[in-house]
Amino acid sequence: MKVKMLDEQVSKSCKEGQKHIEVGDLDNKEISTDLLIIGAGPGGYVAAIYAAKNGLDVTLVERERLGGTCLNVGCIPTKTLVKSSELSHNIQRAKEFGIEIDGNVKINMEAIIGRKDEVVDRLVSGIEFLMKKNKIKVIVGQASFVNKTTVKVTGSINHLVMAKNIIIATGSKITRVNIPGIDHPCVLDSTTALASTDLPESITIIGAGVIGMEFAFIYRNLGVDVNVVEFLDRPLSMLDKDVSKEIQKICKREKINIYTGSRVTKIEMSDEGKALVTYESKKGEQTLESDKVLVAIGREPNIDGLLLENSGVDLNENGRGIKVNKAMQTSNNHIYAIGDVTDILQLAHVASNQGLVAVDNILNKDITMDYKAVPNVIFTSPEIATVGMGEDKAKEKGLDITVSKARFMSNGKALSMNETRGFVKLVKDNKSGQIIGASIIGPDASNLITMLTTAIAKGLTDTDINKIIFPHPTTGEVIQEASQGF
Ligand code: FAD
Repeated sequence: MKVKMLDEQVSKSCKEGQKHIEVGDLDNKEISTDLLIIGAGPGGYVAAIYAAKNGLDVTLVERERLGGTCLNVGCIPTKTLVKSSELSHNIQRAKEFGIEIDGNVKINMEAIIGRKDEVVDRLVSGIEFLMKKNKIKVIVGQASFVNKTTVKVTGSINHLVMAKNIIIATGSKITRVNIPGIDHPCVLDSTTALASTDLPESITIIGAGVIGMEFAFIYRNLGVDVNVVEFLDRPLSMLDKDVSKEIQKICKREKINIYTGSRVTKIEMSDEGKALVTYESKKGEQTLESDKVLVAIGREPNIDGLLLENSGVDLNENGRGIKVNKAMQTSNNHIYAIGDVTDILQLAHVASNQGLVAVDNILNKDITMDYKAVPNVIFTSPEIATVGMGEDKAKEKGLDITVSKARFMSNGKALSMNETRGFVKLVKDNKSGQIIGASIIGPDASNLITMLTTAIAKGLTDTDINKIIFPHPTTGEVIQEASQGF
């Protein structure tokens, strides 16, 4: 019966002119499932577990490793390197804390990368365990749509999966740019940089976005000479200007050279085997010399090989990513899309949250995504974290706001840590009194932002925050100080 239904769908797709799809192969294993999820990143695997826990029969397809970009070549490996590099930096400044290190401190890049691999492997095995525990069927292979309800998975065993509902969670891929010389072996991208056991003496990073700036601090804290070339007029241009300016000042002090308003035109090799990055700016054409180059220009939604044209799923107006409504539903009611592939926000926790919303809707709960309080952390040194609407955006929108800022400079805990750079900034909506946005640049920013995320999600006002008892001495007290400053 199952096979007959499949045959009917297959012949229908063929009649519709999709003859390029090889369906009905003898080695195709046929499966029916309540929910098929394509892609096992933080969007896909979280949705799979949640759906299984809620009684759905779930099939998850992944062509590489469970965990997706985030676990394998994104959030986790970068943060593991951040930890090693910060430790190296702290050792260099141990004297500030009364600790004198007698003898050489050696950076063993092989061991650093080895540790990173161990952390990643451990987390990937954890997901494998969770898949088994929740009885989720995992198929390894490349998924492509045969029609609106059937997906072919090409792997060591081919499968045809018929699903009542489908979630596309295929993430994003590195954007390729056409800079002459970009294919030279000395040019890395974020994925190859994370695997490289060769620590260069100098590196030029193209792109001062989140990934570029995190790598800038990773390398600098490991003692590498770092140049960053950015096309726009400031690094981390998605942040408020004052936050961007603060990190720029810190970069200057840390001797990370940032060249803004600069467009890279070519990469060449010198006779001595060095990379020569040429860029154009107001000052004319300039060239930077370094051992390696890291291209961190950005990522784009990944729909490669999905054959979306067979699925009835539309792309966004700009052709980038899959179009979804607030319930994460595509233009085909039974197909949902979550995570980076939707091109809404490239963040792991957003992908996971969108996955839960998609599953809730599949379970007929009427839930929609709310992006009012999405935290975003940038793991520079010090960290930067934001949530809600920034000051610049609020002003651009003409909102009636007041801004209050408090610096870490006089905070007891920050002083004891010798981490006094940066500030907490709160944006208050004058009509409601509610805090609608926050930016933190400074110690513990990645953890402190959770409190402000809760405040914004729950519509707390400055008066509400002022009534909360903050523990002393903590960096969190700077939040209250900022709130009391309204
Ligand atoms: P992905 O994690 O990209 O997973 C998609 C999966 O789908 C992949 O495993 C892929 O192999 C699979 N797939 C694709 N097509 C098919 C197909 N046709 N068939 C079968 N499988 C397929 N975010 C944060 O929130 N915090 C951070 O600190 C952070 N740091 C980052 C650092 C770097 C260097 C990078 C690159 C990214 C970082 N991100 C960070 C972003 C984060 O990794 C992504 O937002 C997140 O992984 C998106 O999750 P996803 O589930 O949408 O897709």
